[in-house]
Amino acid sequence: METRQVVILGSGCAGLTAAIYTARAGLKPLVVEGHESGGQLSLTTLVENFPGFPEGIQGPQLIENMREQAAAFGAEFLADEVAEAKLGARPFTLELEDGKAPLRTQALIIASGARARWLDLPSEKALIGHGVSSCATCDGFFFRGKDILVIGGGDSAMEEALFLTRFASSVTVVHRRDEFRASKIMLERARAHAKIQWVLNAEVIEVLDVAKQEVTGVRLRATKGEKKEWEMPIAAVFLGIGHTPNTRAFGNQLPTDTDGYLVTSEYVKTPVEGVYACGDVQDRKYRQAITAAGTGCMAAIEVERFLAEAD
Ligand code: NAP
Repeated sequence: METRQVVILGSGCAGLTAAIYTARAGLKPLVVEGHESGGQLSLTTLVENFPGFPEGIQGPQLIENMREQAAAFGAEFLADEVAEAKLGARPFTLELEDGKAPLRTQALIIASGARARWLDLPSEKALIGHGVSSCATCDGFFFRGKDILVIGGGDSAMEEALFLTRFASSVTVVHRRDEFRASKIMLERARAHAKIQWVLNAEVIEVLDVAKQEVTGVRLRATKGEKKEWEMPIAAVFLGIGHTPNTRAFGNQLPTDTDGYLVTSEYVKTPVEGVYACGDVQDRKYRQAITAAGTGCMAAIEVERFLAEAD
């Protein structure tokens, strides 16, 4: 079995930046792309805050550019997912999901990102793909001229709500509080939009109608006072309630915080020598494309130093 110098898990902003740096350092990185190739940027539309693009750039285009840049320096890509990483001894062994021969590597960069969070209601689960979605850019198009609900009070929810106004006749944001985590600029934009309405201090407790296998409405409950319940007709429900880090492959081998984010020291070091984590899988605070790129760069430089000293 061949032993690689470095394998990178994840092909979003963090993973691809790590790939560019390690490839330029001559380490011939292998990027295991994961289930959602390109990470969360590939699911967004216009990115206005990545430096160097005064007019903004489409998320998928930004990812494509990074991928091309990494490939030009010799990075290789594998369309697969690591099911189990064995970090007990070096070289580390990575079992792949599709049952192909495992990979072995001297150093590992974990850039596996985070996946959308759900409410975990049985009715929500039953209607995923039938009007319940966590990706406005993927599914918004199907609800042209319809009334749409967005759940959440952060930037993701505001971004989804604004994006969905392109298709929907109305977008109602349901948030469980009346204070928002969203940035001021995003919140103001959403508040100023004529198509966006607000239901605050309320939570969705059921998505209707499982029997019909389509979304016809939601059952809401007030989070304050007498907790009254009511129904609201709606054609689609989009979740914008944050993300959960993708760490399943590591079991209990690496420490996580209470929400499952990998805990690192000196920005990107895990307690296992030779294993580094970057991007949304370890950053619960900033979670921006540029910070993911920044920590991807740091992880790559740490790998270079580690391998030079280990030789
Ligand atoms: P977030 O800031 O953590 O917000 C999640 C929202 O969902 C919160 O309002 C939270 O309510 C609500 N929520 C969580 N669990 C819920 C549940 N079970 N039921 C109902 N509501 C629930 O996550 P995010 O919006 O994904 O943003 C994450 C990071 O990415 C942020 O740093 C953000 O700035 C960044 N981001 C930036 C952009 C952009 O700049 N274009 C776009 C998207 C995301 P509470 O407030 O009550 O906890």
